[in-house]
Amino acid sequence: MKKVIALVLIILFLVIVGSSELFNKNDINGTYVLFTVDTEFDFPPVLNTERGLDEGVPLLLSIFEEHGVKATFLVNGDVADKRPDVLKSIYQKGHEVGSHSYHHKSLKAMTKYEMENEVILSTKAIEKAIGVRPVSFRAPGHSACNDLMVILQNEGYHVEASADKINFYPYHPDENNWNSEGNMSILRVPVSHTPAYFYPPTTYNRKWVDCFNNAVSSQADKEIKIVVIGLHPWELIEIDAPEDYSSYVRATGNYTLENLTSLLDYLDEQNVTYVTIEELYHILED
Ligand SMILES: [Zn+2]
Repeated sequence: MKKVIALVLIILFLVIVGSSELFNKNDINGTYVLFTVDTEFDFPPVLNTERGLDEGVPLLLSIFEEHGVKATFLVNGDVADKRPDVLKSIYQKGHEVGSHSYHHKSLKAMTKYEMENEVILSTKAIEKAIGVRPVSFRAPGHSACNDLMVILQNEGYHVEASADKINFYPYHPDENNWNSEGNMSILRVPVSHTPAYFYPPTTYNRKWVDCFNNAVSSQADKEIKIVVIGLHPWELIEIDAPEDYSSYVRATGNYTLENLTSLLDYLDEQNVTYVTIEELYHILED
């Protein structure tokens, strides 16, 4: 009998300790939420169409307007050169325009000189399209590396915003190891969640609201909570890809649209603040 009572007490203890770690809605209070949109041609390098630019961007702009979201669009330089109209429509709505390099190619596979060229060309193309020099950057395919941090810092960028396998919270990288904390002036703002594309087989079927809540509760020890959501304009449109890639595009269209709008409906009821990457940089650094 004593053993049974002890067992019940242990289970009760575990339930109480466990439930105290469950998600508490008050934790969302004051969270900074960043919607970041990698603005490129459709599903690179598999497709090269412009449906995301023609249909996805206007859709995102109207959804963001409806919910009072100021977002950051990280744009490829070749998009800026070929479709300056798209960049102007984004910028006129008050969103930040950052860089996603010039071509959509892996930067860490390049020489330092080629990488530098990608950064400089995209900076110029974006500045030509909207008249403002970008200060936020995300490497295509999250292909960041040490050399990139140095190049971006030299070119006057404030933030590099690729995903990070180790860090989920903003940090200043070390010049010799961009994955660990150091003294560089550039700030890394890793993306917390990229819904459909980045981990297609595992995150498909996962509700974005749950992903958001997980991202908040993983920062229980942080005074300032930050959730960075990564999107692509082509994810909003149902697109076809060759069979080998079908798992990557199965979440495009209605699935993404419904998840995005239900997340925004949910956030409308919470006390969160939408900021651009540049705004977050100033909040943390000034
Ligand atoms: Zn991309």
